Amino acid sequence: MNAPLLIRGATLPDGRTGIDLLAMDGRIAALGPALAAPPGAAVIDAGGRLLSPPFVDAHFHLDAALSHGLPRINASGTLLEGIRLWGELKPLLTEEAIAERALQYCDWAVARGMLAMRSHVDVCDERLLAVRALLEVKRRVAPYLELQLVAFPQDGLLRSPGALRLLEQALDLGVDVVGGIPHFERTAEQGAESVKILCELAAARGLPVDMHCDESDDPLSRHIETLAFHTGRLRLGGRVTGSHLTSMHSMDNYYVSKLLPLIAEAGVHAVANPLINITLQGRHDGYPRRRGMTRVPELLAAGVNVGFGHDCVMDPWYALGSADMLEVAAMGLHVAQMTSVEGQRQCFDAVTVNNARILGLQGYGLEPGCRADFVLLQAGSPAEAIRLRAQRLLVVRGGTVLSRMAPASAELMLPGRPSRVDFTRQPAPAAPGAAG
Ligand SMILES: [Zn+2]
Repeated sequence: MNAPLLIRGATLPDGRTGIDLLAMDGRIAALGPALAAPPGAAVIDAGGRLLSPPFVDAHFHLDAALSHGLPRINASGTLLEGIRLWGELKPLLTEEAIAERALQYCDWAVARGMLAMRSHVDVCDERLLAVRALLEVKRRVAPYLELQLVAFPQDGLLRSPGALRLLEQALDLGVDVVGGIPHFERTAEQGAESVKILCELAAARGLPVDMHCDESDDPLSRHIETLAFHTGRLRLGGRVTGSHLTSMHSMDNYYVSKLLPLIAEAGVHAVANPLINITLQGRHDGYPRRRGMTRVPELLAAGVNVGFGHDCVMDPWYALGSADMLEVAAMGLHVAQMTSVEGQRQCFDAVTVNNARILGLQGYGLEPGCRADFVLLQAGSPAEAIRLRAQRLLVVRGGTVLSRMAPASAELMLPGRPSRVDFTRQPAPAAPGAAG
């Protein structure tokens, strides 16, 4: 067993300050002010900085990550060209190359304080190469990163020959979640049929569902309604997720006022992917150009659990990204205009606790008894963490330090100014005449 670890003087996401956290035997043994250090404990002074539960990514594509430029670049920038490009790349892939890129990405993720990730894996391939590669990656990263895999029929469950058989094979091999892509089927009817088949499959196997759903600017793409219906019918509430839901941006407002309570009532989680959908959506528009991200504040207000996903990093759909869930939160905050104090905090929750609910993580959180998993950030609050994409000074899992990062700062050579700046907000000196 590790020596106990005591973090002194942290600020928590809920605003509590001066909090100590004691990690023992992999769990949070105590949380509160002025805890006594047990014999042999390692003690780290948080200096008032933010201590958060780890970042969680609820929607990613690890099989395509870091493949940007292979075999060419997406010229139009659209979702559909990305799918075509991925189709060109698939025959050229090897299990080793997929695993190597995925492992590199997982290193980045851990260093950025992300300790759980749900990744879709394309099953539309007779060799199931990506499935085998990512199952091996899941086994290898298990000591430091919880990786959930979704059996994702990228080319359409009904549209792609053999997709249902391959999806079931992937589940047999150990993939955790049933995926889908109803808006990519040939007709709306086939899309609805695919949702029904996949929900029934998940119910029969006792598995969660996470579908790419209505990733389109078409206001008539309404598969989320069908997903909510089958979730309720099969009593799958709490373990079904609708990912993207971008058509909701363009839907008729009256229809959305009926739809939101149905999603909430069914207990379907929603995932927005702000970095990807602000770049992929609206490509067929002139001006004004739609933002395309789903209606995050409205879903939250209706009582739906909403998470943010990174979705892509350097792949056929997106050339950028860095495994930084604070970058994801920052983009979500801007696109959804969640600039209020509450909105900023909700964006932080969307990359931490809300995503943990979507993945169904056990023992997640900063409470006694939870797993001793946490991140110390170079920031004083969740809003400042988002503003600065704050450094992850310390990443801890099960009481063991996995990663350290030096604080960000710059050496200044300005007359009459401090010689060092670290970008966090320093308390202003009291005004002359102020009380005290
Ligand atoms: Zn996706």
